[in-house]
Amino acid sequence: MPVQLGVNLSFCVKRWVTPELWAPLVRDRLKLERVQFSFDLVDPTWPELVLSQMAESLRAVPERHGITVHSAFIGLAHYTFNQLLHPVPGVRDHAEAWMRHAYRFAAAAGITRVGGPLGAIASAPDGYEAEALPEAEYAELISRMRRLAQAGAEAGLETLYVEPTPMRREWPWTIAQAQRMLADLAGTPIPWQLCPDWGHGTFAPLYGPDHAGMADWFAALAPDIGAIHIQQTDYLYDRHWDFTEPGRVDPAAAFALLARSGLGDRPVFLEAFYPFERADRSVLDAMARSVEILKAAASQETCAE
Ligand code: FE
Ligand code: MN
Repeated sequence: MPVQLGVNLSFCVKRWVTPELWAPLVRDRLKLERVQFSFDLVDPTWPELVLSQMAESLRAVPERHGITVHSAFIGLAHYTFNQLLHPVPGVRDHAEAWMRHAYRFAAAAGITRVGGPLGAIASAPDGYEAEALPEAEYAELISRMRRLAQAGAEAGLETLYVEPTPMRREWPWTIAQAQRMLADLAGTPIPWQLCPDWGHGTFAPLYGPDHAGMADWFAALAPDIGAIHIQQTDYLYDRHWDFTEPGRVDPAAAFALLARSGLGDRPVFLEAFYPFERADRSVLDAMARSVEILKAAASQETCAE
């Protein structure tokens, strides 16, 4: 089965910010046909008129270029605000409302899947980080996710995703937490699935050098994994490098692992972030080269089967 490769629009943030700008690049420069939209390109709480215009172009323009928008992910801007776990309850409520706006925008743009990380509790004054969220915080988070699944269904979505992050103040950062969360969300009107990220499960400072890998996540959670983020990284931070950078992720081995894990049919999105000051052309060159590297690795994997 060919690898279902796509690109998260993280590389377009602050640069190619409209479908008219990014769709031709994705198709002609990167030679890809599948993208994951980023809410770093549209804030779903912008004025209704602006949103309806942007949803309309997101619905029409990528299709004209032969591109499918598989899903929409939260990105970094909103993630920065602690979202559904901010210590001030009103901010949590706003984050939940923000997600509903995101669902409505996605549906209006013809996108049926939305995901991302959920939120972070605040840090302790002494910097101590517990191994898990307090139970009351977790229970409230589950209630919000249940309401969000209802809202997603009403908006016309099919699937919601949670992206596990390598952070003790978020949830889930362990396989057991992910399993518990999915069990606690059973029976929602549309499913919550997982979108693991190659730079998250491999973060050695949190998981230890012996347990920093994706294989355990895939083995334990494969049926609940709906999409995957791939990136180059050194396992020391969540780097989000492209594949022109040296790092520890071997693309051919990564695709082989996905195939072995029964995940060969899941979409894999390259998610690279760049410093804002890096020259636009150098970003394009690096992204195009990275996609070539990933495609070559993917065809190797296809031949090996
Ligand atoms: Fe990611
Ligand atoms: Mn990440």
